[in-house]
Amino acid sequence: MLEQCEISGDHPVDRATDLASEYRIVEIFYSVQGEGAHAGIPHVFIRFGKCNLQCEWCDTDFEQFDMMSSVEILGEVMKYPSKRIIFTGGEPMLNDLWPLHRLLKSRGYTLACESNGTIEIPEGLLDWICISPKDQMYPGVKIRQTTGDELKCVYVGQDLKLYDELVGGFTHLFLQPCYLDTESVEWNGRNFTMTEEVVKNNPPWRLSLQTHKWMGID
Ligand code: SF4
Repeated sequence: MLEQCEISGDHPVDRATDLASEYRIVEIFYSVQGEGAHAGIPHVFIRFGKCNLQCEWCDTDFEQFDMMSSVEILGEVMKYPSKRIIFTGGEPMLNDLWPLHRLLKSRGYTLACESNGTIEIPEGLLDWICISPKDQMYPGVKIRQTTGDELKCVYVGQDLKLYDELVGGFTHLFLQPCYLDTESVEWNGRNFTMTEEVVKNNPPWRLSLQTHKWMGID
């Protein structure tokens, strides 16, 4: 692992408190974004532990995590050539991301998040906001982040009117078939067909495929 001095280098803006701030980290990995508007672009993914929801199709064990300091996170992130980072989870917005923001932005990183939208995101924290609401699972859940770059909804047969108040706040609208690798090809195929039909009948919604799952990569 890199030592703190190697990472902080000549960055006079680094605050000791930022470097020492700690986060619950499930994993940090380098992969190609498989879904949504940035599909095909390599990113460093920082997956945070804990979530305030519990969706039945969730494929992340967000209760298994290690505590890592920002300086340790930087050491991991800087191993990879991409300057693009996605904060994901779990629910990344359960964390105060400003310390990581300051350390990463001063090194030229572009910061994106994938959030369930139940927590309002501070202005200026992120360069790209992808909200994936889960109110098709939790009809009573309040979506507090009502603007962003990308609205990405897993389609399980819900009425798209559910999103009437959100669609105006986002640039890209994506519907994604529910894909479970524990289910059969036929089961996943039916979800794909159903979602494709809904997208064809409801422009400007677009189809988003979790291509990384289809290819069996992270
Ligand atoms: S909001 Fe996301 S991380 Fe949380 S339980 Fe649902 S799918 Fe999993």
